[in-house]
Amino acid sequence: MLKLIIFGPPGSGKGTYSSRLKEIFGIEHISTGDIFREEIKKGSELGKEVKKYVEKGELVPDEIVNEVVKEKIEKVKGFILDGYPRTLNQAKFLLSITKIDAIIDLLVPEWVIVERLSSRVVCEKCGKVYNLRFLKPKVEGICDVCGGKLVRREDDEPEIIKERFRIYEEMTKPVKEFLRKQGVKFIEIKCESVDIPPEKIVKEISEKLSKLLNDNP
Ligand code: AMP
Repeated sequence: MLKLIIFGPPGSGKGTYSSRLKEIFGIEHISTGDIFREEIKKGSELGKEVKKYVEKGELVPDEIVNEVVKEKIEKVKGFILDGYPRTLNQAKFLLSITKIDAIIDLLVPEWVIVERLSSRVVCEKCGKVYNLRFLKPKVEGICDVCGGKLVRREDDEPEIIKERFRIYEEMTKPVKEFLRKQGVKFIEIKCESVDIPPEKIVKEISEKLSKLLNDNP
């Protein structure tokens, strides 16, 4: 069963691709961010412990994240990890508990992310998401579903997007270097245009994965 990691900057479509790969390969999609949000919503012990970090956008301490991931991957045969590992410590821990077949590395330039996210608007009332490039509302500025006003999220402002992108690059660099040195295989996917259909990217990932696994059985 496949054991994968996906890397990609915020807004790169990581979540979408992971869900599709989950279906294609019959593996579990393990997103640490999703797990934490879910636990916070449930009000569980874990949720209470991580709430203060997640709400401030700070990293949850390694010991907590590592334990959560360990428990999850022990229960499944194959997986795609999304949002983990984020620190060197996490990467070392991960390799000490499992093998990794490949890392899917989404290489998306900053301008593509800015273009994509800054054209995103949401309905103030019902939360439906539109994109002024590909998924326009019928009437400008008005939600098709409930007639609410469409607004841009505060964190989709270009300067904030650029800052998130910078932080991502800075944080993942040493983690990727470490994993590379440990001999983990990378599949690099260049996403250099704003409107590549997700199917095309997923097809490229699947093909490159099959080739990699055939060459290194
Ligand atoms: P995400 O949706 O991946 O951006 O994750 C949301 C939040 O969950 C982050 O801002 C962190 O507070 C926490 N989180 C998720 N994954 C990790 C991780 N691997 N290490 C530390 N904190 C994490």
